[in-house]
Amino acid sequence: MAGAGMATAEERVDAVVVGAGFAGLYAAHRLSELGLAVRGFEAGLGVGGTWYWNRYPGARCDIESLEYSYQFSDELAREWKWSERYAAQPEILAYLEHVADRFDLRRHFRFGHRVGAARYDESTATWAVSTDAGARVRARFVLLATGCLSKPNIPKIPGLDSFRGAVHHTGLWPAEGVDVRGLRVGVIGTGSSAVQAIPLLAEHARRLVVFQRTPTYSVPARNRPLDPEEERRVKADYRGFRLRNWRMPFGAFADQEPRGGSALEASPEERRARYDTWWEKGGLPFLAAYDDLLVSPEANRTAADYIRERIREIVRDPALAESLLPEQMVGCKRLCIDSGYYETWNREHVALVDLRRNPILGIEAGGVRTRAERFDLDLLVLATGFDAMTGAALAIDLRGREGRPLREKWASGPRTYLGLCTAGFPNLFFITGPGSPSVLANMVPAIEQHVNWIADCLAHLGARGLGCIEARPEAEEAWVEHVNQVAGFTVFPTCNSWYLGANVPGKPRVFMPYIGFGTYVDRCDEVAEKGYEGFDLRR
Ligand code: FAD
Ligand code: NAP
Repeated sequence: MAGAGMATAEERVDAVVVGAGFAGLYAAHRLSELGLAVRGFEAGLGVGGTWYWNRYPGARCDIESLEYSYQFSDELAREWKWSERYAAQPEILAYLEHVADRFDLRRHFRFGHRVGAARYDESTATWAVSTDAGARVRARFVLLATGCLSKPNIPKIPGLDSFRGAVHHTGLWPAEGVDVRGLRVGVIGTGSSAVQAIPLLAEHARRLVVFQRTPTYSVPARNRPLDPEEERRVKADYRGFRLRNWRMPFGAFADQEPRGGSALEASPEERRARYDTWWEKGGLPFLAAYDDLLVSPEANRTAADYIRERIREIVRDPALAESLLPEQMVGCKRLCIDSGYYETWNREHVALVDLRRNPILGIEAGGVRTRAERFDLDLLVLATGFDAMTGAALAIDLRGREGRPLREKWASGPRTYLGLCTAGFPNLFFITGPGSPSVLANMVPAIEQHVNWIADCLAHLGARGLGCIEARPEAEEAWVEHVNQVAGFTVFPTCNSWYLGANVPGKPRVFMPYIGFGTYVDRCDEVAEKGYEGFDLRR
């Protein structure tokens, strides 16, 4: 924990990178390759980001490991072997630790340092950055690799502090693990984290009570050990495989093509057969069984009905199955993928509390009190998600030109140009910021694409003796409008998802990710080719 707790003299570097997950590590690598002096800060005590913090039982990726990994180094891809179709958290963390060691990236970072403030000084065209552990640094560029899903959303439930047992958010899970054997465990939430954790918590807990506000759709992951033959086949043309993914709307799944067509043009029998096929294959590609599932509410209903039917088949108690049936459009909230989620509801010691009918009144020392009943519990798991997309950036006191706070600029929702920059904040870059495909893409290629774009941009500035880049307000305006327009053609804005900020009370309701990875990449390339169109470049 280099330097934590010590006030230090102001350090001068070219670029500050905040965060040491997939994004921060690769940013430090690319920028130092350019010959820039980089100082990285990471609040955690090690690298890994998401995979450092989310150690809850069952945590694993929902994009296949062969796709959910870096592609900047052929050697790295060749030498690293994933053990499962969807790697679990310890393996992904080990991968990121390997990357940090292999490319000697830890030397750039100070761990245990949370950046609290970053202020732009117009007189010197530099950023003054400081951390809660006393570090101060001045840099020309700041890259926020702070993560889209890194600020836990802790619900304000009355009495939460008075609970006698342990309370753990899935995104702040103790590294030493939590022994639930013999305990009465409560889980609040039924999103992806809960869907992964519930079957494993049920395995060991004496009693498991799940508090559900919105039922979720989940498709079986069909996780399995990675077949060496499959890995050999994919890696025989790994570059080609990864490049094909770059052309896909979500930056993954290219090898699962072809399918497509309209769900509405197929007969009920054809549809059933196709959904059966994708249900059996497992995973997120279920949502691409037809081309129109995410754009046509009618087409979407056919997939939603199919999943509801499967839930009714799996969950033996019909009343319980009814309570688990989601009503929103499928995919509108991120589709979950699971290993035995619905099957877990057939276990005697697992109970559901439907908060729509029986809301939580408060938490007491011994458990959770709902309108109808009190549940005695020893341990509470908050699987309540994140202040997504903007939470981590806005937690920093970021001030741009004329001392204007980002919190003020984004008071009615985030505004960026390409999700990369925001007007009034020169030389500040967001990696997978709001307005970029980010969480609606396989995030590792999304991160690499952003870092590559930023690195190329800094090289461009350096080669021309330019020191400053800033998004133009009109370009930003047009981009924000475009992001919303695209979202408006889809089913995404139709429910209370975290994509819209709807999970955090008081957060402005704005659709934050850009839909369409391939189109987005083309647009970023075009902007760069046109001399950074929409940006002001200054000396
Ligand atoms: P993160 O990994 O979130 O890292 C950000 C880092 O910044 C954190 O370590 C944080 O401590 C640090 N930080 C933040 N603010 C500060 C500050 N002020 N000062 C210092 N440090 C700071 N995406 C997929 O594409 N596929 C998946 O299968 C997938 N699975 C996921 C599973 C879980 C449980 C979660 C929560 C997310 C998942 N995601 C997935 C999204 C995931 O967040 C990204 O894939 C990716 O790991 C993000 O990397 P990142 O470096 O951008 O951010
Ligand atoms: P999430 O999807 O936001 O789910 C949070 C859950 O908590 C929801 O069911 C939500 O209900 C509920 N909740 C929130 N506040 C509540 C309150 N005050 N009272 C009762 N219930 C409350 O969060 P997540 O499960 O951590 O997942 C977040 C994202 O991280 C995912 O969508 C995905 O992108 C990523 N992730 C991926 C994986 C993976 O499979 N690889 C695993 C975990 C996470 P509402 O729906 O009603 O808001």
